[in-house]
Order: sequence, then C-alpha cells, then structure tokens
Amino acid sequence: MGDDERDFADENATVCPFCAVGCTLTPGEGGRAGGVPGPVNRAGRLCRTGIETFETLSADDRLRTPYVRRDDDLVPASWEEALSRAEEDLRAVRDTHGSDALAFLGAPHCTNEENFLLSKLARTLGTNNVDNRARLCHASAMTALEDRLGYPAMTNSLDDLERADVLLVVGANPATQQPIAFDSYIRPAVNAGTTLVHLDPRANRTTRLADVHLPTRPGADAVALEALCALIDRAGWTDEAFVDARTTGYDAYADSLAAVDAETATSLAGVDVDELSRVARLLGEADHVAAIAATGIEEDDHESTTTADALLNLLLLTGNVGRPGTGMNVFRGLNNEQGASDAGCRPDRLPGYQPVSNDAARERLAAEWSTQVPSTPGLDAREALAAFGDGVRGALAVGENPAVEKRADEWVGERLDGLETLVVVDAFASETTAYADIVLPAASGVEKSGTVTNLDRRVQRLRPVVEPPGEARSDFVILRALGRRLVGDAFDYADPAEAFAELTRVSPIHAGLDLDAVADGGVQWPARNGSETKVLYADSFETSDGRAPLVEVDADVPNVPDVAPNELVLVVGSRAGGFDAAERVDRRLGLHETDAERAGLADGDRALVSNEATDVTTTVSTDGTVREGTAYLHADVADPLVRNGARTVRVRPASAPTGERGRIDR
Ligand code: SF4
Repeated sequence: MGDDERDFADENATVCPFCAVGCTLTPGEGGRAGGVPGPVNRAGRLCRTGIETFETLSADDRLRTPYVRRDDDLVPASWEEALSRAEEDLRAVRDTHGSDALAFLGAPHCTNEENFLLSKLARTLGTNNVDNRARLCHASAMTALEDRLGYPAMTNSLDDLERADVLLVVGANPATQQPIAFDSYIRPAVNAGTTLVHLDPRANRTTRLADVHLPTRPGADAVALEALCALIDRAGWTDEAFVDARTTGYDAYADSLAAVDAETATSLAGVDVDELSRVARLLGEADHVAAIAATGIEEDDHESTTTADALLNLLLLTGNVGRPGTGMNVFRGLNNEQGASDAGCRPDRLPGYQPVSNDAARERLAAEWSTQVPSTPGLDAREALAAFGDGVRGALAVGENPAVEKRADEWVGERLDGLETLVVVDAFASETTAYADIVLPAASGVEKSGTVTNLDRRVQRLRPVVEPPGEARSDFVILRALGRRLVGDAFDYADPAEAFAELTRVSPIHAGLDLDAVADGGVQWPARNGSETKVLYADSFETSDGRAPLVEVDADVPNVPDVAPNELVLVVGSRAGGFDAAERVDRRLGLHETDAERAGLADGDRALVSNEATDVTTTVSTDGTVREGTAYLHADVADPLVRNGARTVRVRPASAPTGERGRIDR
C-alpha cells in the first residue's frame, strides 16, 4: 500500500470519496462498491455515484507515473527526478522573488492531514498564500456563519433534522445532490409529519416531497426571506426570550423590518402573498425550524452575504439556533470541502480557523514547527490566479484544477503560462496539468489513509481498500517528501496519524479528537471534554460577546439582473461532486412553455442559448419546473456562458444564424 499505511484499521471499509455526505463503502461484487452501514448511511445504502466508485477510479486515464516538462513536452520521469525538479523550481522562485511569490492550492479530494501538510508547507516557507477553491462554492453562507455565529460550518447534525417541525430548504436540491442524506434523514422526517417548504426559483426533485414551493424570482430569495421575517415579527411570533438573551441589534433590525411592505416585497420576489403568509405562519408557530441551504443562496461576487444573512436572521428571530431540530444546515457538495478549510487551507486562517493575525495562535505553531508564521493574510485562490506571472511566480496545486475558472479561457491560459513553475499533484490529467512543469500522480481516496470531515463536521477515517495504480502515491507521501526537501525535519512524519496528532495539538476545533473514536463511527468537532458536538451554540455563540447579531438586509434592492425584453434570466444548476458526474448531467435547457412558445421553440427542439460572446446549443425541456422569464441550464452546460459573465441570455431555434461565433454543442 505505500509507506504511510501502517497505522490505520484493518477493516476493508472506507468513506465514499465523491461527496460531503460521507457514506461508508467497501469493494463489492463485479468491481462495484458495496454499502456498509455507517454513521451517515445507517442502512448501508449508496447512491449510483458511490456504487461506481471503483470503476470510476480505476479508469484508464489515471496518472500512473510522474512527468516533467522537457523541450515543451511532458515526459515520464522517475519520482526522484520529479521531486528534485519540484524542489529546485519552488526553491528558486522563493530565493529569487520571495516567499509570497509562491501559491499553494489545496483540495476537497485530499484528506485533513494532506491539507494540513499543504498549509504547513506554505507557512513554513513564509507565505499565507494557501487556499482551497472549493470553499468559494459556499463562500457567502460560510462567511455569514463565521462572522455572526463563530464557525463556518453546519450548525447541527444530519440525524437531528428528523426533529424539525418545519424544514426550510433554500437554494438546495438534496434529493439529487446528497441523495443518501435526503433518503436517510429528510424523507423519513417528512413521512413522519415534518413540513417541507422549498424556496427555489426552479422546481426540482426535492420539490416533489415539498408541502409548499415558493418559486422566487432568480436573485430575489433574500427579499422573500426578509418579507417572511417582517410578517413573523408583526404577527408576534418573534422569540423574544431568545432574541433578548442570545442576539444583539434587534431594535435596529426591527425598524428595518417595519419598513418592509409585504405586497411590494412579494411582488419583487415574484411569489404569492397568501402563500408567503402561510409560510410565515408555519415558521412562526413551529417549535423547531431547520434550514437546509446550498449553492442557491450564494451571491455572484462570492463576497456578498445578503441571502445567507436573511436566512440567519429568520432563524435567530424565531429562536431556531442551538437546539436539535433547528439551525443553519449548509449542505456542502465535495468530499472533504469542510476539512480542507478546517485544516488551514485558507489565506486568512490558521488550522482551526484561528486568524493569522492572532499572536498566541502563531506562537503555538512556531513552537510546534520551529519557525515563525507570517501574520498577514495571503492571497485567496482567485487573487492568486490573477497574480500568476506577476506577483506569484510558482504554484503547487494539489488535487486542484485552476485552469477551470469562471473567466475567459484565454485569460486563464495567460495566467498559467505566466508562472515560472507549476507543480501539479493529481489522480487524473486535467486542464491544469497541460500547463504544468511537473506532474505527480496521486492516489485516490479509496487508496490511502487519513481522515476526512463530512458536511456535518464528522471526522471519519479513510482506509486504503485498493492499491493505487502504477507508481501513484498518496498526497500525504508526496507532500511529506516535498516538505522534507524544502523545509526539513518538521515534515518527518512516520504516517498520517502523526500529522493528525499534530493537528489536534495546534487546532482548537480538532483538540480532543481521538483517532480510535474517529475510526469507530466518526466524531463531530469540536470535541471538548472528550465528547463530540452534535449541535453548535447550545449556550452561546463563538463571538466576542457570545451573542449573534441581527443584521439589516437591504430588501429594497434585490439581487435581480436587468433583463431586456427579449432576454431570460439564466438560472444555473449546481454541479455534482463526482469525477464522472458529467455523464449523468441533464444537459437540456429548461424553459417555461410561454417563453418557449414566444421563442418559436417546443419541448425536444434544439435551441441556441446566447449571450454577447457565446452560443450554446442544447435541447429544450418544458417540463413545468421552470418559472416564466428564466432559462435553466446545469452548471456544466452553462459554463461557457458564465465564464463570459452571462446573467441573462437569449434563446432561439438552433437553425437561427449566429454570425462569426463558434457554437458549443451540448
Ligand atoms: S456520492 Fe455521496 S450520497 Fe452517494 S454514496 Fe457517496 S457519499 Fe453517499
């Protein structure tokens, strides 16, 4: 198995590497995976993506040997040659341009220990330029949670969703994106009497189970949520005891709610006022309301937190935080998306979300690592990419693919070409490996040891249940080797368990975690006093005064794009997390029948979807799931439009002329 695998348990089961739910699986019959009853998939079920784990990861296009660039070509190389080149190139960049000329990109497919080592490598080399792009998928929600409650993480647990009287699902489609969590926790809750309210511009598989669907205008979820808060406050359903004891800013916030005109707000949000009032009553009178949110509450600029703030306001106003069956439950998509940030792959936070400016935290690390840690926040992944070839001259991308970016391909190519050295560690060749100077083949999640953290903060143990292909090695072994060469003894770990032990010493949220307990069903961080935390903030928030602020949200200016008379608002569906998920994507254009008719289109027709720079050709679906005035495309199909900044599109028959632009056939 490789030289890092001596420590972990011998059972032949591990964690599914494809999404943040974290089901337990094992190699099964006919090359497929078999489900094993685990802490998340209690019945031992897997979804189709999980069942195909081993087929997907044994694909012919796995990287099996290191490569180095010679005379413009990537050619196979020995591990010694590839690691020496990586060491020399990264060292040369640092010696010539300084530590901040390096950037380090971690990934949700890597373990906690691997992301910790990458964070440590960056910081012991003198820079905080370390990030993982997956965190941008939920940047708005996580920023709101971190700023207002304390931790950028799901407040509650999957298994207490069943205790909710009302599940408010906003901008999420767990029936498709997290199917085992949906079938294990949400469906049973609804079958047992929980009311499901689905707030989303488009109906999807989750809507089929909903009691109420509020089909908001795209970009207007925050308006609808603030209108709900106004109706709740006016009706006297505000939980005054909770608001008094646990929050700040109520008076100013109540003034802002008093200014909300329900008729105007519902008109802006595009929902029926009676339906909204019915939902306000459901939420206001319920004892336990749990919100489930996903990428649909994210804002386009990754920095605004308007919708997430409105949703948090609603939960705080009604006292629905800090108890089982309540809370803000952000359903992340990718396997170790939570753990990558937890372990310190953030430019502004050390392991366990300690600010880089925190002297005591940096001193703890300095004592452990025998070197000082920089105190100034580094570049995030998007800033680093923009600085490639300028301020940043060398990059180490571990399981990350910065060449795929919501910006023009040409711009991204110029950035990557501008680097003096690009070292890529990955299991598969990608758009980014084409630009790499050194490519190091990585083991996948089922071929290595370590821990990962799922969407409800549960740290679980990975076990190697199959061999990696060819000469591939775990990211841990690769990063340890680079660390030993570039830094020295601080990277002298015998195995991932030693790195995990170090993580528990330097990261407050990992303190108290025991690897045996992690192996035995997982442990939800933080584990204070030796026991896990199923519900965060039971007594106080992790803020300076222990309280959570209620914040004013500008409900008069919805995040709705300007739409010309012949345009539709583009609604982009979330991307699934698996390596092979593209094969299962519904690539059709969702249109309301009226819009289709207006454009001279019918169900099954081929259509052109255009913005100013790009045309995408695809097939029309008018299955009744899309509201009038919108055009729905899955993220994989919408990518060429989104990269050119499209928020609105025109649709027409595919036979229509397109001028000089090349079409992208979907
Ligand atoms: S992809 Fe997600 S829901 Fe499906 S089996 Fe894997 S962890 Fe479970």
